[in-house]
Amino acid sequence: MKRVILHWTGGANQPCFTDYNHYHYLINKDGLIINGKFPVSANEICKNDSENKPLYAAHCGGGNTGSIGVSMCGMHGFKNSKDAGQYPLTKIQCESTFKLIAKLCKEYGLQITPQTVMTHYEFGKAHPNTSSAGKIDIIYLPPYPDVKQADIGNFIRTKIKWYFFKH
Ligand SMILES: [Zn+2]
Repeated sequence: MKRVILHWTGGANQPCFTDYNHYHYLINKDGLIINGKFPVSANEICKNDSENKPLYAAHCGGGNTGSIGVSMCGMHGFKNSKDAGQYPLTKIQCESTFKLIAKLCKEYGLQITPQTVMTHYEFGKAHPNTSSAGKIDIIYLPPYPDVKQADIGNFIRTKIKWYFFKH
């Protein structure tokens, strides 16, 4: 695998049925990690079935191959920093997710860089000709409201590095 892409689901704060198809790991509001339908290995080489349905976790348009999909459940109804909707991400959820990504980086021998651990938003910015362009996950972290949109990727990588080296 070559990278981890971090998302929010845009749904409620527990996984919904379709979320299982789209991500390898889902994290609910309590920080519980839930496995998706497809194993990480399904995204090594992405294939479709005879009805052209994905046999992999389709989470990052234009970049599913080699990408581990991790998603925090929530943010349905998000409008902006002043109105994050009824399902804002929680602190325990974010921290559990950062810890999980640190573990995945160890497991898959990934460095923690902007090219190897990124938000879906960052992937879309770096790949403007894909369907990931314009994705808003993650432009705001409710538990860390002072972190600016442009700094969120680096903030997350710093957190992941802390878990990577301390634990
Ligand atoms: Zn996404």
